[in-house]
Amino acid sequence: MTGDQFQHLPVMGREVVELLLPVPCGLLIDCTVGAGGHAALLLDARPDCTLLGIDRDADAVAAATARLRRFGDRVEMVQGEFGRLRALVGEREEAIVGVLMDLGVSSPQLDRPDRGFSYRFDAPLDMRMDARQRLTAAHVVNEYDEDELAAIIAANGEERFARRVARAIVAARPLSSTQELVAVITSAIPAATRRSGGHPARRTFQAIRMEVNRELPNLADGLDESVHLVGPGGRILVLAYHSLEDRIVKERMRAWADEGGQSHEEARLPIARERHPIVRVLSRRPLRPSADEVRDNPRAESARLRACERLEGEPAQEMA
Ligand code: SAH
Repeated sequence: MTGDQFQHLPVMGREVVELLLPVPCGLLIDCTVGAGGHAALLLDARPDCTLLGIDRDADAVAAATARLRRFGDRVEMVQGEFGRLRALVGEREEAIVGVLMDLGVSSPQLDRPDRGFSYRFDAPLDMRMDARQRLTAAHVVNEYDEDELAAIIAANGEERFARRVARAIVAARPLSSTQELVAVITSAIPAATRRSGGHPARRTFQAIRMEVNRELPNLADGLDESVHLVGPGGRILVLAYHSLEDRIVKERMRAWADEGGQSHEEARLPIARERHPIVRVLSRRPLRPSADEVRDNPRAESARLRACERLEGEPAQEMA
């Protein structure tokens, strides 16, 4: 696949660049390099910086490598999962001055029928962003018990009819293709809702995809590792497209800004504890895309951008 076929408009590109203009000179880490859209904007805007691009999807790494070739040795690329950010980054001389996460799937992933991400095509039940991983959508759909499935579809998919969908899936097993799954989900959603609420399979597909790729646990792990990597004055930026993702980002950034890792238990003690903020939150409310951007790029619609800046000092709880 060439860079040209792997197109993806960077969401809130202007806002992302503006937030990374003031950081010191050093290494920027794009944890979700995708098609290299944000990475190219950043390399152009910050000619004094280098960039490490990470993606768990081999096609994305290949596409970004091709697209960013003109930046020569200012760019390094690695395939991997940002939940293990420290291991991927390794030991470096350069200061890390920016970390960007643009969560979720890319348009090229959704548009490739064989990947099984989309309810619009027929494909095997796969949905893995990293094809080296063992857990697939087929396993989730055919092996998880009804309670587990219902819980995932309700939480990750915010699907009102999660229990009915889970029950229908269990009754229809074994399922092997995305279109079989679409038919089962559709049959479980009441006809009145089917007519009004968008594609009936959208929420359940999203929920299964998030489970297959462990998206929420990876996000929490990646954030925890990133705050230890970024140097003073460096910034962490996250673009989230789902309320559960955004909540994890908001809570992490608040905790770092408040006390650098104080537990709820400690917070209740009547003793004035010294505060050790390790970041300054730059976005008390998340930034949202402009109406113009949403018109040009529907994927931007649900985007929420949050950012914080690393202060001097070490996090209170060093990680093992
Ligand atoms: N910002 C990119 C698009 C990113 S789309 C651009 O402008 O072109 C999101 C990308 O993140 C996808 O390619 C997906 O494979 C990758 N991704 C999602 N979760 C990941 C994770 N935990 N670790 C590494 N990459 C991840």
